Amino acid sequence: MPLSMPESALSPWDEYEQQWLAEYAMHSLHSRGRRHAEDPHPYRSPYQRDRERIVHSTAFRRMTGKTQVLVASINDHHRTRLTHTLEVTQVARTVARRLRLNEDLTEAIALAHDIGHPPFGHAGEQVLDACLRDHGGFNHNLYGLRRVDHLEERYPEHLGLNLTFEVREAFIQHAHQTESLEFPEFHGVGSPLLEAQIVDIVDSIAYTTHDLDDALGLGFITLADLNDLKPWNDAQRVIIKNYPTLTGQALRTAVIRELLASFVTDLLQTTLDQLDGFNIRSVEQVRRSPAPLVTLSESMARGKAELRQFLQERVYRHHRVLRMTANGKRVLRALFEEYVRCPELLPERHLSRWENADRSLYPPQKPELRLRERTPILERVVADYLAGMTDRFALEEYRRLFHPFIDA
Ligand code: MG
Repeated sequence: MPLSMPESALSPWDEYEQQWLAEYAMHSLHSRGRRHAEDPHPYRSPYQRDRERIVHSTAFRRMTGKTQVLVASINDHHRTRLTHTLEVTQVARTVARRLRLNEDLTEAIALAHDIGHPPFGHAGEQVLDACLRDHGGFNHNLYGLRRVDHLEERYPEHLGLNLTFEVREAFIQHAHQTESLEFPEFHGVGSPLLEAQIVDIVDSIAYTTHDLDDALGLGFITLADLNDLKPWNDAQRVIIKNYPTLTGQALRTAVIRELLASFVTDLLQTTLDQLDGFNIRSVEQVRRSPAPLVTLSESMARGKAELRQFLQERVYRHHRVLRMTANGKRVLRALFEEYVRCPELLPERHLSRWENADRSLYPPQKPELRLRERTPILERVVADYLAGMTDRFALEEYRRLFHPFIDA
């Protein structure tokens, strides 16, 4: 049998999706397509192709060297942006499969969800946003979309990865920017698809649980510190009942696993109840639903908020984390100011992006800024360059620019 199908026949993945997916799932057949039209692939669905383009992108590989909460070089086993992404992806796929949603689409959205994060985690995003305050600000989701639309150069036919509308839309939905002037094609698109809603909530479940794990592993907090937190206590009770002698790292690992499982089980049950309760039978109904349909129960959402509060107070504001973030901010701000002061210090490729800039890629958010168009464009080009860096590269670049007698 030939690999390619006759034009009139349903492709093998369309047949599979029709048989397997729920009626409220996004079917490949109904995709709004790509910015540049492409022929169907003989044996991969559109969302499979998106997933594989994302994995092959430079921005994806650079997540190895980007901070999640802790600078990537602090030790060899806490989460980086990349391992966080892989954990989100596998949980999101589990949820998508159980709900009979489009697993390929969910996976593509999950793999791409943090691709636009600058170095040094949220501190990096805050400092770039402050640097661009007068030029439309910086948002990692919008940068992520610019990155996959224009900044990745991998294909002779077009700039960017040419992803499907639905994967691109997830960046915009996550940023609550469906009315963005920069991306008018998403105006009026409605609520996020269920596949994107999964990634959103699973992202927060994953970082809440694994940030506790990393903080325990690095000695920022102890198991005793967690005893008063209800979700932790509930999970620990289950483990102690089955393994009464467990202590130390073995107990920590088992409780983290139980905690994650309890969130995912609750998420599945609550979501199934909501889809049933609101009688959701189509993607159109999902689009019209004013509130998210993929959610935790109220009590588990409260539990997650309790853990988030603890993390805010005890981990994200731990002096070792604050030192790392202060350092990262200082480095990025200094690099930004130096490149803007003297654009000739930018590598050739980035300098030419400014000099030959396609002005339509960088519409200023404020129309009056069009009068000063070179300035916002240079600053955006510099921020895009900085956002693509790994932690290590930014630190090295800082040394090259500011420390004397180092090979430039
Ligand atoms: Mg994330």
